[in-house]
Amino acid sequence: MAYRTVNPYNNEVVKEYPFATDVQLGEVLAESDATYRAMKKQPISERAKILHNVAAKLREHEDELAKACTIDMGKLIGESKGEVELVAIIADWFADHGEEILAPEKIDTIATGQAEIQKHATGVIMMVEPWNFPYYQIMRVFAPNFMVGNTMILKHAANTPTSAQMFCDVVAEAGAPKGSLTNMFLTYDQVTEAIEDPRVQGVALTGSERGGTAVAEAAGKNLKKNTMELGGMDPFIVLGDANMDDVADIAWRARLYNTGQVCTSSKRFIVMDNVYDEFVDTLKDKFSKVQPGDPMDPSTSLAPMNTEKAKNKLQGQLDEAIAAGAKVVYGNKPIDLPGQFFMPTILTDISKNNPAYHTELFGPIACVYKVHSEQEAIDLANDNPYGLGGIVFAGDEDHGAEVASQIETGMVFVNNFMTTLPELPFGGVKLSGYGREMSHIGEEAFVNEQLIVKTAKPNMDNLAGGLVAMDPQPKELSKTK
Ligand code: NAP
Repeated sequence: MAYRTVNPYNNEVVKEYPFATDVQLGEVLAESDATYRAMKKQPISERAKILHNVAAKLREHEDELAKACTIDMGKLIGESKGEVELVAIIADWFADHGEEILAPEKIDTIATGQAEIQKHATGVIMMVEPWNFPYYQIMRVFAPNFMVGNTMILKHAANTPTSAQMFCDVVAEAGAPKGSLTNMFLTYDQVTEAIEDPRVQGVALTGSERGGTAVAEAAGKNLKKNTMELGGMDPFIVLGDANMDDVADIAWRARLYNTGQVCTSSKRFIVMDNVYDEFVDTLKDKFSKVQPGDPMDPSTSLAPMNTEKAKNKLQGQLDEAIAAGAKVVYGNKPIDLPGQFFMPTILTDISKNNPAYHTELFGPIACVYKVHSEQEAIDLANDNPYGLGGIVFAGDEDHGAEVASQIETGMVFVNNFMTTLPELPFGGVKLSGYGREMSHIGEEAFVNEQLIVKTAKPNMDNLAGGLVAMDPQPKELSKTK
C-alpha cells in the first residue's frame, strides 16, 4: 500500500510519499551497521544524554507533533498531546535507568575464576509499527535499543508516514547519530530483504496477526530474534461487589479511548448477573454522551476512525455479528459527518459460534456478556485466542488480584484503567504475541548476554571448568587428554 496522509476527519489527501528504492535500502543498511559499530565504542552515558535531549525536543515540538498525528490517523488532539508527553516520559526513563539495567551481572560459579554476563548490542533492528499510536509504538523500541547501542530501521504504517518522519527528525535534531534510527517507506518485500540481511540482528513488530505472521515467518526463516506485539480482546470483568461508580467512570473510557483502536481496549465486558442491567444502562448513557466532531477541537469527544478501510471492515464485522444473533442494545447508526466516524455500539447475546466471540473488533464496539459466577467469568475471559491485557473490578483489590492471576493474559489491572508506563512490561501470550516491550525486559530484548569467565591462571585440578560438575571423574578425563 502506498504511503500517504489522508485526514480521516475530512478525507483530504494531505501528502503522498514515494517508496524507498532498493539502492536507498542498501545505503541505510550500510549506514545503520556503521553507526552500530561506532556506538559500540561510545560510553552509554553519552547516549543517555542524547535520549534526555530527545525527550526535551519532543516536548518542545509537542504542538506540531500532536497536530501531525491527529491529521495522519484522526485521534483527538488532547490524546495526541498526551501521547507526545508519554513518549517523552519513556525516553527519560530509559535514559535514567538503561545503564543500570545493562550493567554486567556477576555469577556465583564453581568454575575457575570470575564469571559475569555482559550485555552487548547486537546490530541493526528492523522495526515494523502500526498507526494507532504513531509515536508511542516507535519509542517502545527506540528508547531501550538506543541505550543498548543497537541501531534501527523503521517501517511505519502506510497511513502514518508524516508522524513517522517527524519523530525521526526530532530524534536527529536531538543529536542522535545519523543511522541510529532511520524511517524508510519500505514495501513488504523490502522489509523481508532487510530481515534477510546479515547486518540485521533483530526484528520487532507491533500489529495484527496479518503483519505478525508475515514478518515473524521472515524472521524465523532467517533465524533472527524477534518480538511480536499483536492484537487483543481484553476482558473487563465486573464482579458482583464492584464499586459501580468506578466501573461507570472507567468502562466507557476503556472502550472508546483512541476511538476504540487500542490493542488493550476492553473489548469484552464480562459482568456478574446482579449488576448486569445497571452496567448496560450506564454504558449506554455514557456512550450516548460522546460528541463526534473535528478531532482538532478540544470539545470533541469522539474522533473518526483512522481510515475508510478500517471503518468498512468494522461495519462488516458488526453486520456479521448481528446476522449471527447478537443484539444491538445501542448504536449501529450512521453519523452524519464526512469523516470516518463510527457510532459507539453495544452488543449483547453473543453466542460462542458468533464470529464476534473470537474476533478482534478494532473500533468502538463493546461486547457485553452476563455471567452467574466468578468461575464462569474467568472461564469466559480465558475462552479466547488472544491473551494481551485485562481489567478486573472487585470490591476487594486483593480478591481482584486473585482473579486477575487466573486470567491468561500478559497484563491485568485491578480496579483501574489500563496504564502503560516505561517501568511496566508490555506484551501478551497466545495470539497476542511473545516477548515484552518497555521495562527491564524490553531493555534486554535484543542484547547479546555474553558470558565472560576470567582467571589469572588455569586450575589443573579443575581442568574441565564447568564440565567438572557434570563429570564424576574429572581427573580421569584430564588423564586421557
Ligand atoms: P497490521 O496490518 O499488522 O500493520 C502493522 C504494521 O505491519 C504496519 O506497518 C504494516 O504496514 C506492516 N505490515 C503488514 N503486513 C506486512 C507484511 N507482510 N510485511 C511487512 N510489513 C507488514 O496491523 P494494523 O491492523 O494496522 O494494526 C492494528 C493491530 O495492531 C490490532 O490488531 C492491534 O490490536 C495491534 N496492536 C497491538 C499492540 C501491542 O502492543 N500488542 C499495540 C498496538 C496495536 P502497512 O501499513 O504498510 O500495511
